[in-house]
Amino acid sequence: MLPDIENLLKLQDADKEIRRLQDEVAEFPKRVAVIEQQLAGHKAQLEKAQTAVKTDEAARRKFETAISDLRGKISKYRDQSLDVKTNDQYKALLHEIQFAEKEIAGTEDKILELMVNADARDKEVKAAQAELKAETAAIEKEKEVARQRTAEDEKLLAEWRGKRDQMRAGVNEDLLRHYERVSKFRGSGLSEVRDQKCMACRVMLRPQTYNEVRTGLQTIICDSCQRILYFNPAEEMLDLKPSTTRAKRHHPKIDAPQAWYYRAEFGDIGEVFLCLTTSRGQSSRRVYDVHTGRLIGDILIREGNYRQGFPEDITGAIRLNGEWSEEELEGWGAEAPMVVLDSLLADLEAARYEMSARTSAKPEAPASVPSQQAAS
Ligand SMILES: [Zn+2]
Repeated sequence: MLPDIENLLKLQDADKEIRRLQDEVAEFPKRVAVIEQQLAGHKAQLEKAQTAVKTDEAARRKFETAISDLRGKISKYRDQSLDVKTNDQYKALLHEIQFAEKEIAGTEDKILELMVNADARDKEVKAAQAELKAETAAIEKEKEVARQRTAEDEKLLAEWRGKRDQMRAGVNEDLLRHYERVSKFRGSGLSEVRDQKCMACRVMLRPQTYNEVRTGLQTIICDSCQRILYFNPAEEMLDLKPSTTRAKRHHPKIDAPQAWYYRAEFGDIGEVFLCLTTSRGQSSRRVYDVHTGRLIGDILIREGNYRQGFPEDITGAIRLNGEWSEEELEGWGAEAPMVVLDSLLADLEAARYEMSARTSAKPEAPASVPSQQAAS
């Protein structure tokens, strides 16, 4: 292997690690923000409960004042009744007294009701306070963890950046520029060659190119994806092991609510992964570029399950294993992450291997992957 390529491979590892650390560092403040938002919600709940207690207390004081006013009135009426001259006057005063007494009884009921409520409200406030206290402690702990991890990550990042700069210095300038340009657009700048194929874009190499990569005397670039090609003899040996050691491929479920497909051609785009989902009587379709993971076009929504909605896309496509939640799909935005592409590509390879094994076992079956046949 050329020293430049060896250095680039190390550089690629460093780049990956740097990206992972950067993502992790960016993730912490988001996580802290989410829990702080929860905390603010619980604080607001507590304040509401406390305000309710105060409102009740004020109402109770108002009722108590009203009762003492009424009692004052009653004693005034009683004094007056001693001086009345006629029976009618006496009756009128008695009536006033009865009326005030009735009002006192009614107000006392209201106070009692408030007192019963106060117990429940007290419990609410105490529970909210306890919850808030526990939560605040948990958040402080979480923040501390985030702070520590961030500091560790930042330190590692600085180390890796230093290493990266050293590695860059060890690579031919033109090659380095090419590597960085391709990495930027495709997520990786190097690709291993195995079975005469570029493992990143799955395109077959011409025999001469393949030999040149294997010899490792000059840098060769994949015509199709522009990645710098390299050959790892150890991997080739693994591939030559008998097929019985290959794990049996897990088969996707026919009726799964989400299905992934590979198409070698899609309009004028070339190779794509399709993600079809069924939910509440509707189906959706996302199209991703196999090599870059970029989301192509809009997300299409159609009536019925995805088999009814997108039959033309399924025909002739290779069904793959893969399942990600709706939130994850949303989270990817305009680009499926490399891990997802890697997982789908690995399954695609397994599916193709399975198909080629089936075809060679039963010659009457149609040859679905002619390129595989040509390879062997
Ligand atoms: Zn390629």
